[in-house]
Amino acid sequence: MSDRVVVALDVGGTGMKCALVRPDGVAVRTERHPTDAARGPAAVVDTILDVAQGLIAKARADGLTPVAIGIAVPGVVDEARGVAVWSANVGFRDVPLRDLAVTRLGLPTALGHDVRVGGLAEARLGAGRGADHVLFLAIGTGIAAAHVVDGVAGVGAHGAAGEIGHIMVRPDGPRCGCGRPGCLEAVASAAAIGRRYGELAGDGRGDAASSAQGPEQSPGAAVTAAVVAERAAAGEPLAVQVWQEAVDALADGLATGQALFDVSTIVLGGGLAQAGDGLLGPLRAALHERMTFHREPRLVAAALGDEAGCLGAALLALDAAGVRATDAARVPDHQEER
Ligand SMILES: [Zn+2]
Repeated sequence: MSDRVVVALDVGGTGMKCALVRPDGVAVRTERHPTDAARGPAAVVDTILDVAQGLIAKARADGLTPVAIGIAVPGVVDEARGVAVWSANVGFRDVPLRDLAVTRLGLPTALGHDVRVGGLAEARLGAGRGADHVLFLAIGTGIAAAHVVDGVAGVGAHGAAGEIGHIMVRPDGPRCGCGRPGCLEAVASAAAIGRRYGELAGDGRGDAASSAQGPEQSPGAAVTAAVVAERAAAGEPLAVQVWQEAVDALADGLATGQALFDVSTIVLGGGLAQAGDGLLGPLRAALHERMTFHREPRLVAAALGDEAGCLGAALLALDAAGVRATDAARVPDHQEER
């Protein structure tokens, strides 16, 4: 049955990445659609089901056999019940997305969390391939993780495992969006790095003075983490300081993760990981300093880019259909029963 495919959708706040994926992890068709979350959750659900239905029809028209659907969404996801419990940027509140899809489309459907399925894909097909114990971190606007053991990402009792961004690393640090002070993502997310640089640049020069210099000369103007990384690499003292603060906080978070999970490989993804060796080099050194009796994990950059979520949704779908992924994909012996 080499003609089998699964339908995979990775739903984000602004767009959906969608694909038909073969059991060997190869996408035979990819599509992108706007989420347009401002229309409200009911309209977003309709779009998800319409897009999935469209892909099913296209697969059949091409002589392929769609066997299951995998959908990844952000926020809190109860994978066992197939419910999108809560999502700030898509607007979901207790949406029984899996049952809605099964009812309308008639195929086995798995619902997953975007970062957890991204980690699943990196662990099975990407930078963690070959490792049995992988911790995947997505570092962007926030920071979240997936702990993948033998090709299965831990979900937690309430669908909220992996919130490593809310480990407290600096008790006297900036307040996090969750309400507590000094969470890892309040110190070391891409958003936090840009904000911190702006604050310090403002402190040194005064906001009025720095804006009067014009945006090109003003380090106090809104600066992204990518720019801070570039300036740090070029040796600008303020950027070096801010970057190192973030690296130290990340190393504290990773050391906590390693104490809990004892993984062999940590995979860094998300926007910040695009700094490459500018992040990995100093972070490896900082993590090394923090290892006492724990074994030091391999620290690598993600390999699948922004396709990871869609591929991970496909892997969930293959698992749901009981299809043994071939060749590329690592499949656990204990298939989860759905
Ligand atoms: Zn927090």
